[in-house]
Amino acid sequence: MDERCVLIIEDEQAIVDILKFNFTKEGYKVLEAMDGQTGLELALSENPDLILLDVMLPKMDGFEVCKKIREKSSVPIIMLTAREEEVDKVLGLELGADDYMTKPFSIRELTARVKANLRRTSIDRERSAQENSNSISSGDLTINVERYEVSKHGKVIDITLREFELLKFLAMQPEKIFSRESLLENVWGYEYYGDVRTVDVTVRRLREKIEDDPGMPRYIITKRGVGYYFNKA
Ligand code: CA
Repeated sequence: MDERCVLIIEDEQAIVDILKFNFTKEGYKVLEAMDGQTGLELALSENPDLILLDVMLPKMDGFEVCKKIREKSSVPIIMLTAREEEVDKVLGLELGADDYMTKPFSIRELTARVKANLRRTSIDRERSAQENSNSISSGDLTINVERYEVSKHGKVIDITLREFELLKFLAMQPEKIFSRESLLENVWGYEYYGDVRTVDVTVRRLREKIEDDPGMPRYIITKRGVGYYFNKA
């Protein structure tokens, strides 16, 4: 695993020293800032994997720093608060911190929280990368390519293999218009001398399953005189 970077934004040198010592020992790269303004700049320029953020800071307080970071990044932020009263504000949704510790805190507890937050983000990242490669999403529709499944609003739709293949083919190249002949060839998969109306029939069945209003489709669109295309919502 590559080196994780923790940014410490804290104006008490003694706390910075002990945190730095501890996280360096744990194998993290450590960046530090002694005031809110510098901390915000580092947070945005260095892309740390996690931020420890004190509340009472010179130049810009921790709440403000947290809010400003959140406008740009979803990096885990653990707030370090001096007073119990600040906890409510830290946990306020508008602030967007992931966790908090009240001072004085135990280093062991803080380290555990840091690891838990880092683990959570790496799982999230892995999961979203995996989902991206296995599925195509558009609006309320998700096409899971590996499981041959289509779901709408998270509910799996009963769909035939041919309908699935047609939807997948169109959705993988959104906005590109395919003639009915070309769809027959690509989706039905052989020199098909049959009726191109086979495509129309399959499209109609598909629309009945995936569209809110099959008469006014938003996913599979007819380009009159040309063919069909998938409209990426
Ligand atoms: Ca402080």
